[in-house]
Amino acid sequence: MIMKNNKKSTVNLSTKHFSRYGEFLVSFELSKYGWNVYNPVYDEYIDLLIHKHVCNNCGKNWNLTPALVCKKCGKDFSKTQKNKIVAKKICQNCKTIMIGNKTRCTKCKSEDLINIPSCDKCGGEVEMFDHFCECGSKKYITKFRTIQVKSSRIEYKSGKSKNTYAVDMKPRDLIKDEFHFYIWCLIDDDDRSHFLVLSVKEFVKMMGESIKGISFFKDQDRQHFSSKDFGRWKVFLNKFNKLE
Ligand SMILES: [Zn+2]
Ligand SMILES: [Zn+2]
Ligand SMILES: [Zn+2]
Repeated sequence: MIMKNNKKSTVNLSTKHFSRYGEFLVSFELSKYGWNVYNPVYDEYIDLLIHKHVCNNCGKNWNLTPALVCKKCGKDFSKTQKNKIVAKKICQNCKTIMIGNKTRCTKCKSEDLINIPSCDKCGGEVEMFDHFCECGSKKYITKFRTIQVKSSRIEYKSGKSKNTYAVDMKPRDLIKDEFHFYIWCLIDDDDRSHFLVLSVKEFVKMMGESIKGISFFKDQDRQHFSSKDFGRWKVFLNKFNKLE
């Protein structure tokens, strides 16, 4: 088919665009793990700032918006049911109950009405509660992490696949902070993405003595590894739980 011949892949992206592409892929992947992703205004070797709220007890993602729940039957109106909340009003003077946006009592004409948002199922009062976790915890923690993204496509030599990826590492990448991580975004020849997640400490450990080598000092360090099994870096494949 003609269309198929015109199909483009990440190989067609310029180096600059490909690096941005990798940052976006990493961002989308991070959101699957519940992270909110932010871009720094200036490039100080941190590509992404990520953030999330989780339960302090079970680690589940935390919802900071309050819940709207019926006091009597427990029906939750928070998400899609808000329009089902019944606008009930009670006259303070004669206790008449009215439904709808009245400003005056239909019986005694008093303006002293009390709003009671009510449940459409049982008539109970709907109240606003702070969210609490399914596990029973009422406490959450806020996490922040900084991320440096490195992206790589498969290396080719004179039109032939070398079946390797290459990642450039430089001394300035070594932000030795326990909340700083590298995510390597590797795109194979089928345009599929693979992610390696590692801390700075782990990188230094893996590099061993070669981190003190001349080529690393001169910004010429290039880590080459198999695109089939990711070589010694395989242990970091999809290790997004490291960020927790
Ligand atoms: Zn919990
Ligand atoms: Zn109810
Ligand atoms: Zn009244």
